[in-house]
Amino acid sequence: MELSTELVITAFLGALVGAVITYVWRLSERRLQEVPSGPTPVSPVPPGAEAVLSVLSSSAVLLDDADVVLQASAPAYALGLVREDELTSEALLQLVRQVRRDGQVREGETTLHRRGRAPVHVHARVAPLTRQVVLVLVQDRTHEHRVETIRRDFVANVSHELKTPIGAISLLAEAVGEAKDDPEAVVRFAGRMQDEGRRLTRLVQQIIDLSRLQADVLNDTPDVVAVGDLVAEACEHSQTDAEAKGIELVRACEPGLFLRGDRSQVHAAVSNLVENAVTYSEPGTRVSVTAEAYGDDVRITVTDRGIGIPEGELDRIFERFYRVDPARHRSTGGTGLGLSIVKHVAASNGGSVEVWSKPDEGSSFTLVLPAHVPDNEEEHA
Ligand code: ADP
Repeated sequence: MELSTELVITAFLGALVGAVITYVWRLSERRLQEVPSGPTPVSPVPPGAEAVLSVLSSSAVLLDDADVVLQASAPAYALGLVREDELTSEALLQLVRQVRRDGQVREGETTLHRRGRAPVHVHARVAPLTRQVVLVLVQDRTHEHRVETIRRDFVANVSHELKTPIGAISLLAEAVGEAKDDPEAVVRFAGRMQDEGRRLTRLVQQIIDLSRLQADVLNDTPDVVAVGDLVAEACEHSQTDAEAKGIELVRACEPGLFLRGDRSQVHAAVSNLVENAVTYSEPGTRVSVTAEAYGDDVRITVTDRGIGIPEGELDRIFERFYRVDPARHRSTGGTGLGLSIVKHVAASNGGSVEVWSKPDEGSSFTLVLPAHVPDNEEEHA
């Protein structure tokens, strides 16, 4: 083929390919223009917000200007913050509306009441994200709220409990002053002042014990405690009071028994149980303390044949400052803290406390603590 013919063919093919490409491009252009052109919905959610929400471990909700939930993170649903496309909390909605009005970031606390579930206390931070969209970030603060309430109650209770003996002491001091010409009355009032002083000392000591135990930290270097000695010391502690009431204190411990725990804490717990048994028993009855190994545990049981505790009160007696009969505690000198100390000692030392009681029959408290099994070397040491 001649060169000129080749050039003509090449030019022709090039023009053909160009024409086809142009045709296809025009066709596609027309097709695109033919797509029905209605109003395309534009999401008010800023780009990227969806991705951020999907990875958030805290509760986050995006609301539009009609308070409709546009997007919410999974924890927001789990917390019960969003139902269908609405915020469930009226208080949070109010916060959202305020933020929308003036564009200021706001914070607040509220309680979410959920059907069939425990209420949750939450802290919310609300911020405008765009002109239409408001962001609500919510943190579950139920635990912190509960701790704070307990702390506040405790402080209020302590102040109240301290006021009683302090008030009594100042009244008695006044009475002593007025009875200066009556030596018998002076001696009587002085004796009562001593009682109130003792009550005050005991109360302060128990408050200190309890505060130390509050941390609930498991003791990781426990002592090895000889259970026989422990029980003997606890009985010794209440011996005088028992004798004064004609109560027989008997003990029966399995020999060679050891437990693992903080020595002074465990001592305080067992002593409290024995003290209660003596306090809440009628004169002439018997209080027994037994200790035995049971599986990996040691069970120390204090049994009395005293006044007993009504069933409905059994759940509450371990609460701080709770007394079954508040009027009676003036005469028993009880602080209402003994059993909460026992409960905390059990928990801090990897154990538990059990109770059985029946009014007019008696009570039985069992402290369960991890046993210590001496290995061969220890045994022969
Ligand atoms: P308290 O210092 O008042 O004894 P506790 O915390 O030790 O406080 O006990 C709480 C309450 O439980 C007591 O006030 C008493 O009503 C009741 N209680 C505790 N131990 C016994 C017991 N062994 N028998 C009958 N009631 C008891």
